[in-house]
Amino acid sequence: MSKEVKSESVSLCPVGKAAAPEPELLCIFGTGDLGRSLGQRLLQSGYRVVYGSRRPHSCGPLPQGTQVMSHAAAAQSASLVFVCVHREHYDFLETLAPQLKGKVLVDVSNNLKKNLYPEANAEYLQRLVPGAHVVKAFNTLSAWALQNGPSDANRQVYLCGNSAEAKQGVADTSTKMGFTVLDRGSLSAARELEDFPLQLFPEWRLPLRLAIGLTIFFFLYVVLTDVIYAYAKEKKDISFRIMVSLANKVFPIVSLIMLSLCYLPGVIAAFLQLYRGTKYKRFPDWLDRWMLCRKQLGLLALGFASLHVLYTLIIPIRYYVRYRLAAHTISQIRENKTSEFDTTMAWRTDSYYAVGILGFAVYLLLGITSLPSVSNALSWREFSFIQSKLGYLTLFLCTFHTYLYGWDKFLKPSYYKWYIPPAYMLSLVLPSVVLAVKLLLLLPCVDRSLTRIRQGWERTDPEADSKRSLLT
Ligand code: NAP
Repeated sequence: MSKEVKSESVSLCPVGKAAAPEPELLCIFGTGDLGRSLGQRLLQSGYRVVYGSRRPHSCGPLPQGTQVMSHAAAAQSASLVFVCVHREHYDFLETLAPQLKGKVLVDVSNNLKKNLYPEANAEYLQRLVPGAHVVKAFNTLSAWALQNGPSDANRQVYLCGNSAEAKQGVADTSTKMGFTVLDRGSLSAARELEDFPLQLFPEWRLPLRLAIGLTIFFFLYVVLTDVIYAYAKEKKDISFRIMVSLANKVFPIVSLIMLSLCYLPGVIAAFLQLYRGTKYKRFPDWLDRWMLCRKQLGLLALGFASLHVLYTLIIPIRYYVRYRLAAHTISQIRENKTSEFDTTMAWRTDSYYAVGILGFAVYLLLGITSLPSVSNALSWREFSFIQSKLGYLTLFLCTFHTYLYGWDKFLKPSYYKWYIPPAYMLSLVLPSVVLAVKLLLLLPCVDRSLTRIRQGWERTDPEADSKRSLLT
């Protein structure tokens, strides 16, 4: 096993010139997917690479220019060792403890599940080889990303470790490889780093659950008030409307509610600050989490609004609509009747569509500016102007669009089937409350106090003040 195998060794020195210093030699344990990609990347970054393997003679093709030998021999030749082996196989490292003494061991491992082991892999490695300096790093990158070089989504190397010197060594190597280093502190942060790759769209979870929950609730609601009601009261089967009409009722409702949910935490936070008289008290955790997922709530809301637009565009080509139109025209011809032009209806429908189109246009603008490539090009002032001012304008236009849809139906009891309001009326509650509260916050006296609080002013408690002055 200890026999050295050199896959290539090239060193040409021009006669008469001093030989350039040899590039640093780094060691990689494990010739698997990550080991190979990492080796390739290190070579491209100007390092020499030696592999430590259980089977140095038969480990398959490795990047050209690298050496492969036994673990013990490889460990002795370099001061920095990347352990590209699964944690389950770490026990062999215990026997190598003497050769690894004083070396920097980079733990790149991940687990299949959270909390699979009582301690983090890197801490376990440190326990097995107490004489080495373990640094947790590179585990958030994939073999693919390493092979292809840093791209926008994979630019960062998170690292942590107890030895500042060891971390600096790994950080220098990472920087030379083209990555940005993010130091997360001591080795106790290793578990957090090991959990990173297991996360699946964590910030989308709550907004997605909300969207699914609202969609199911409102879908059942419109099935009850439209399809079941028609069947129970008039013995009419209109279940075919589920596919387009009912879906096109649910999408805008969910979109409007989710859009208001983007702005509701902001007004709650403003009231909390006004009530507390300071901005220096932490918000409750639920509010913090809610505020952090506003972008995802907004993007999902935009998705539902886009579906509403698409479904609306196909209305004229629907069989049901064409049939109704033809039947109506034929009956008018038969009865020799002409409908009077209804100016109010023309105003109503035109305003409804115009406000809807405007609302959707600003909605799109909001969505586009939330894309990192666009938001990075905006100053903070520009970004907050668009997200706040245009955001409220979107909410206003979309709410107004829904009020126009309702028009005078709010006052007609025939629209309240089984005495419950139509679904779109329910969807108006939250945005109307958010807009009303926002108006309240814009009142000059309220706005002035809020601005002062946000600039650092704190309301003092006269009772506490008098107690303090008595004590001093
Ligand atoms: P892999 O393809 O299965 O390679 C693992 C290597 O470990 C093998 O090629 C083998 O190399 C060595 N090995 C296997 N059994 C061993 C044993 N009993 N004793 C000693 N060495 C043994 O795995 P990988 O994808 O490269 O992943 C390696 C580590 O990197 C894992 O901890 C993984 O969590 C982490 N990681 C992987 C990726 C990725 O994209 N693949 C990304 C981030 C982190 P030899 O035959 O040469 O000894």
